[in-house]
Amino acid sequence: MTAPAGVTVRVPAKVNVQLAVGAARPDGFHDLANVFLAVSLYDEVTATPADELTITCEGPDADKVPLDRTNLAARAAELLAARHGISPDVHLHIAKDIPVAGGMAGGSADGAGALLACDALWGLDTPRDVLLEICAELGSDVPFSLVGGAALGIGRGERLTALPVGGAFHWVFAVADGGLSTPAVYGEFDRLTEGVDVPEPTASPVLLEALRTGDTNALAGALANDLQAAALSLRPSLAATLTAGTEAGALAALVSGSGPTTAFLVKDAEAAESVATALTASGTCRTARVATSPAPGATVLPA
Ligand code: ATP
Repeated sequence: MTAPAGVTVRVPAKVNVQLAVGAARPDGFHDLANVFLAVSLYDEVTATPADELTITCEGPDADKVPLDRTNLAARAAELLAARHGISPDVHLHIAKDIPVAGGMAGGSADGAGALLACDALWGLDTPRDVLLEICAELGSDVPFSLVGGAALGIGRGERLTALPVGGAFHWVFAVADGGLSTPAVYGEFDRLTEGVDVPEPTASPVLLEALRTGDTNALAGALANDLQAAALSLRPSLAATLTAGTEAGALAALVSGSGPTTAFLVKDAEAAESVATALTASGTCRTARVATSPAPGATVLPA
């Protein structure tokens, strides 16, 4: 009998087109109204049979990815195996194209990818709702990495409602040198909003309508990230990146999630290329990537 072949799953990055953040709760988490949009930058996670759980990673940021059990891909394999009472004996290889610690949910993508890859490799056929439960246990952004498209996340961002999207949007992402820690950015948000009456986070009806109709100009006017001030406070140099992209013709610019990646909404593919070229030449970022949205969620690739 031949050994079973590996299973490869492709998983998208995300941008938060709206990230409304409430005041810190007693448990330290924040209530969110988080509008996720999956974008066409992908990691690929390949699961192959092995004697024990091991991880390898390739890509420009591979040296920043932990290869131990703290990797979200490893944790996903362990949680799935535990649910089924089996041992998580698998080799996981991550081909990493999503910036690490960039506010684009790269680790979450690998968690969702590993979950789906192991489920297929081990022939478990775990129901979708159970996979989503495991994703929520792994982290607030992981359920969205599984489903992709566009969704509103409430609670810590993990309680998802799929959103209709009426057309394609074009983006440029400026990748910064180094990452920003998501907890540090939330800590800075708490510091900046101390004594301020932070409103309940709610999704913007104008933004949801812009997504539904595929109206790029309306979406540009409605983009909002409550973590942006905190990210800029920790990394003031991001202001120059935002300005460089806007001056190059982007319709709108914002920090992606907790940063330090910055996102630029542009009118079409041609504008994306010229804004990316200008951003790279500006010297205000490490590199610039073009992408479209919405992108599909975690998908098993044909063998
Ligand atoms: P988010 O947008 O969800 O806040 P992020 O994109 O800012 O996340 P990640 O790329 O997910 O950040 O990485 C955050 C940290 O998580 C890394 O610094 C790393 O230590 C850890 N980590 C665990 N698993 C992974 C993984 N598979 N890929 C990258 N980082 C991982």
